[in-house]
Amino acid sequence: MPYAPCPSLLLKRSFLYYFSAMPKLQFTPSDGSQADHELAGERVTRQDLVPQSAGGKVRIAIFGAGILGSCTALELADRGYQVSLFERNAEPLSEASVFNEGKLHLGFVYAADRTFRTAERMIRGAEQFMDVLGRWIPHAALQALSARPFDYLVHRGTMVSVPDVEAHFLRVSQRLDEVRSRRPTVSPLDVSRPVWRRLTREELATRYNPALIEAAYETCEIAVDSWVVANHLRAALRAHPRIELVTRARVITAEDRAGGGFDVIFEAQGRHCAGPFAAVVNALWANRPAIDQRYGLPPGKQSFTRRKLGVNLQCGRASDTLHSVTIMLGPFGDVVSHRSGRVYLSWYPSCMIGTAAGGEETDWNEVLGGVDFDSVRRGTIDALAAIYPAVGNLKAIAGEPVVVNGGSIFAPGQTDIDDPRSELHERLDTGIEGCGAYLSVDTSKFSLGPAMAVRTADRVTALLGAPARS
Ligand SMILES: Cc1cc2nc3c(=O)[nH]c(=O)nc-3n(C[C@H](O)[C@H](O)[C@H](O)COP(=O)(O)OP(=O)(O)OC[C@H]3O[C@@H](n4cnc5c(N)ncnc54)[C@H](O)[C@@H]3O)c2cc1C
Repeated sequence: MPYAPCPSLLLKRSFLYYFSAMPKLQFTPSDGSQADHELAGERVTRQDLVPQSAGGKVRIAIFGAGILGSCTALELADRGYQVSLFERNAEPLSEASVFNEGKLHLGFVYAADRTFRTAERMIRGAEQFMDVLGRWIPHAALQALSARPFDYLVHRGTMVSVPDVEAHFLRVSQRLDEVRSRRPTVSPLDVSRPVWRRLTREELATRYNPALIEAAYETCEIAVDSWVVANHLRAALRAHPRIELVTRARVITAEDRAGGGFDVIFEAQGRHCAGPFAAVVNALWANRPAIDQRYGLPPGKQSFTRRKLGVNLQCGRASDTLHSVTIMLGPFGDVVSHRSGRVYLSWYPSCMIGTAAGGEETDWNEVLGGVDFDSVRRGTIDALAAIYPAVGNLKAIAGEPVVVNGGSIFAPGQTDIDDPRSELHERLDTGIEGCGAYLSVDTSKFSLGPAMAVRTADRVTALLGAPARS
């Protein structure tokens, strides 16, 4: 649906800034409502930015109820803001943030980024993951989230050689020593394992197929059960008195209001307008650039979206001896062995069902309608079983549905994972962008979502000031 660019586009261009790269905001609180602050060189009065609802509450609109939108909503509501969370699906946390692998990345897989900056970023995010989630998920539940730790297998068709993989793992272990010494409340890694250890030739041959696998390593990296995380976050969203959950509502755009602040235009069996909001947080992940452009922001870096599925089997105790596995480095796959008995399987060639250019708003339901789920399931299991024979022996418990579903992977660049120079192999220039009090946030990874949500809430607070507690 064509949308005319915002009339104040020129102004927006001059305001456009990357918060993460260069924080230009200086905020000097004075006596409250008339406090002035400097935003990208322009002086703006706080009154211009803070339309208040009749009850005097500062209202924030968040687009998209994935891990980022949901955690940002919870964090802002805890700080006293009134939050409206818009989600096009019937349920919050119903796309990438639930149908993902749940890996708390420690950087092992980012061996193709020779700068090591992606691995460092992943380690920082993982370190905060459990502690930030602990604001909304009970401590005991957090401790029960972790899946069995990952073995990393180097495929004979790898893009990064075994010596290079080992040099990279060594750097990861040096950084992780610091995390281990700092000890977050709930550990984001498996402390019973060394950071990494190469399996002997005999061990490799017992677990995996040496004809396809050149080297294998035990690592301390874990995944968390994203289904359980989603259940807890949904309950927290519903229970929060300052969060309005607006589901089945497809956001079309935000519009500047004459007196400051924003209206939100959305579709929910007809077109609606809600507002005024003092700030907007666009947390739409793959659809984020399309909505940014409709609002009037110029297109950002080239990006593209891949839609990827995973196969979930409920195997009960039969999965007790199954290792979690990541096969590197190229278009291969993963196994995640959850302690609940759920086994997550993905094999890239079978599970990748489509791509879209970054600026397009895509509804994948139509594509999903044409997918042969049985062939995705069989292709995935067969390919993984050829590498890890134990996968071939897995049996789903009778009566338990096999769930084949997925989400979008949004990333910079234009080429796929089989290109060693693809920007998919690094996740650096992501984070918070914005224009005034319109923030647009690229989560980058599930494991970075909670920490990114707190940073986003910090930006909102820096822009608007803390709301008066009622
Ligand atoms: C198969 C797969 C495996 C992955 N594995 C891992 C992993 O192991 N570890 C890791 O860290 N990351 C992983 N990721 C990446 C991770 O899942 C994402 O980075 C993260 O979930 C993105 O969170 P989000 O909240 O930004 O997006 P989402 O969870 O996609 O949330 C965005 C929400 O916006 C909604 N929406 C979209 N358009 C509109 C609109 N116009 N109006 C209203 N609502 C809209 C969507 O319905 C969705 O609920 C994986 C991703 C996939 C797909």
